[in-house]
Amino acid sequence: MIKFCPKCGNLLKPEKNSNKLVCKVCGYFEFSDTKISLAITTSKQKKSKEIMIDEGEKDHRMPTAEVPCPKCGNELAYWWLVQTRRADEPPTTFYRCTKCGHTWRDYR
Ligand SMILES: [Zn+2]
Ligand SMILES: [Zn+2]
Repeated sequence: MIKFCPKCGNLLKPEKNSNKLVCKVCGYFEFSDTKISLAITTSKQKKSKEIMIDEGEKDHRMPTAEVPCPKCGNELAYWWLVQTRRADEPPTTFYRCTKCGHTWRDYR
């Protein structure tokens, strides 16, 4: 999260080994959000933070293919491969509709 100094408007930088945000220009500082510092220091919080990032950014990283959605008919879907059972079997292609979010697997 980016915060700016309310005094001079410069970027506040996080100080090492503390949860302080410091302005290098005028010396102003404040304590960063407690939730953020918890997320960095405790493993439990860190885990939930990772999941949050995963959920939020997954769609943007995934490639898309022109596959019709069986639910709403939209013709663009995200796809990814999942190695299902054994390594000697081909991986299964999964699709997720970009419009309604419906997820299905490719049966071949
Ligand atoms: Zn400042
Ligand atoms: Zn759909």
